[in-house]
Amino acid sequence: MTQLSRRDFLQSAATVAAVGSLAPDLYGQSDAGRENLSGPIVISSANGLPATEKAASMILEGKDTLDAVIAGVNIVEEDPNDMSVGYGGLPNEDGVVELDSCVMHGPSCGAGAVAALQNIKTPSRIAQLVMQRTDHVMIVGEGALRFARAHGFEEVNLLTDKARRVWLKWKETHSNRDDWIAPPDKPKPNAHSRADKETLDFTYGTINCCALSPNGDLSGVTTTSGLSYKIPGRVGDSPIIGAGLYVDNTVGAAGSTGRGEAVIKICGAHTVMEAMRHGKSPVDACLHALKRIVDTTTETRLLKENGRPRFDVKFYAVSKDGSFGAASIWSGAKFSVYAGGKNRHEKCAYLFERPS
Ligand code: ASP
Repeated sequence: MTQLSRRDFLQSAATVAAVGSLAPDLYGQSDAGRENLSGPIVISSANGLPATEKAASMILEGKDTLDAVIAGVNIVEEDPNDMSVGYGGLPNEDGVVELDSCVMHGPSCGAGAVAALQNIKTPSRIAQLVMQRTDHVMIVGEGALRFARAHGFEEVNLLTDKARRVWLKWKETHSNRDDWIAPPDKPKPNAHSRADKETLDFTYGTINCCALSPNGDLSGVTTTSGLSYKIPGRVGDSPIIGAGLYVDNTVGAAGSTGRGEAVIKICGAHTVMEAMRHGKSPVDACLHALKRIVDTTTETRLLKENGRPRFDVKFYAVSKDGSFGAASIWSGAKFSVYAGGKNRHEKCAYLFERPS
């Protein structure tokens, strides 16, 4: 269990006095811990339980940490039932699935990314090839697809029938100012914008997975279909080095899921990493970055009446010394972790108690 440090407690108390409802309800609570480094540690978003297991088993076989986390997230990318990642992910507003991913390899300081990639089930593998087989860090859109083709990747229609039906329902019901007509039992809302609701009506979901090997090497990957019904070409935090993922083989690895626009604006994963570099535990570093998101979100359309965000973000982190943790803006979230030989879900720390 990570303890609240005296300095963080004082910071938290000072914040309560200064900004009232923006002050965290709970600060620094987590089940996360520190494991001795006899085995691998792999941390991931809640949907990453099969990924942490797979990555850990490969690291135990002596495989490279980046190959291991990519093989782990490939399971989720190829799973049509996860509608937030890869094949079967929810599409953009035109009904086209566009995928984002990036990877970082600690030992070689390597990085690669793809964004708005269509027709390829495993964007994380293309991101790894950008890192290994080009002099670039990021390739997007049509160029990324052509690069994947050059490497012999099979093209598939990523829009499953299930995702198409969900998208069609959104298309027919989200606005009363267009020509799409909803089925009679599903009337259109009065509101014309998703931003009119108390909690933003976005469908988020992504997998981030980071690993530490027993010999102290670190790698990470983040992969997603991004925000559902996004404007075509929109790129979130997931493929951006320093936003959705950051790895420093001397310090640790961190990644994010949730509202990408908020994460990009504070260079999220890099902010977590720098906080760890300056001595914060993974959980405190994640909370520190979330607090910065809260402090820098000023748009009223993104805020509840009490000034708290109408969206969520989660950060996940593992440090070189074997400690790990995750935190979210709102309570109730979990993350996946393989540590001490056990693969399981643990609770995220959080800033604010989610209203019942
Ligand atoms: N961070 C992703 C994005 O903004 C979505 C998510 O994690 O849910 O594209």
